[in-house]
Amino acid sequence: MDRDSLRQYLSFYQDLGVTTLYRRPQTDEQSQMPILPLPGLTPENDTLLKILEDIGDCKRCRLHAGRNKIVFGVGNEQAKLVFVGEGPGADEDIQGFPFVGRAGQLLTQMIENTASKEGIPLKRADVYICNVVKCRPPENRTPEPDEMETCGQFLYRQLSVIRPRAICALGATAAKAVLGRKEGVTRMRGNWFKWNDIPVMVTYHPSYLLRPYNQNAKREAWEDLKKALHFVYD
Ligand code: SF4
Repeated sequence: MDRDSLRQYLSFYQDLGVTTLYRRPQTDEQSQMPILPLPGLTPENDTLLKILEDIGDCKRCRLHAGRNKIVFGVGNEQAKLVFVGEGPGADEDIQGFPFVGRAGQLLTQMIENTASKEGIPLKRADVYICNVVKCRPPENRTPEPDEMETCGQFLYRQLSVIRPRAICALGATAAKAVLGRKEGVTRMRGNWFKWNDIPVMVTYHPSYLLRPYNQNAKREAWEDLKKALHFVYD
């Protein structure tokens, strides 16, 4: 097992309340036994409700300090397409739902208008939408790597439970969390990547598209979304 996997296991068990691990010296009998693999990081028979219960009144990272509401996710729990954003903003923090502010309205328009133009009967409620971190970062700053790592376990569980046909990563933070890649969105957008065998399309975050000088990016985001919608719903 490499260092990264070991770190993930240890933080997973820590979140389960296991804070102390012991290494016992092996007996002669044990040294003859085959090494058993560690259990998977995603609990068996996991559900969105169990994940929500596990999050509880989460204080696992510093973002808990400034939040009003934990923003878990919204939409169809059997969605074929999941959108992953960065983290809640002010409106989301107050309402407890992702993508409800101006960027959220743009995302809704993008999903519903593109689908309708392409002859795909799809509403926002048919997809699932969530973020990498579930609590609002102060001043809407980008989540820190340790916050993304801590909260990321819940995102991975959400994605594992829903197992959509495709994931759309909105912006660099989502792309980094889902794919572990550090390239900018401009380089990655429009291409397919994979997370645990699930195809991932990277595109711009809607809040970036709201800036008036980003008309080209808007057109590109529409193209990316069209690609993802046809892949999933054709
Ligand atoms: S951001 Fe995630 S890990 Fe951090 S306190 Fe909120 S729910 Fe917990």
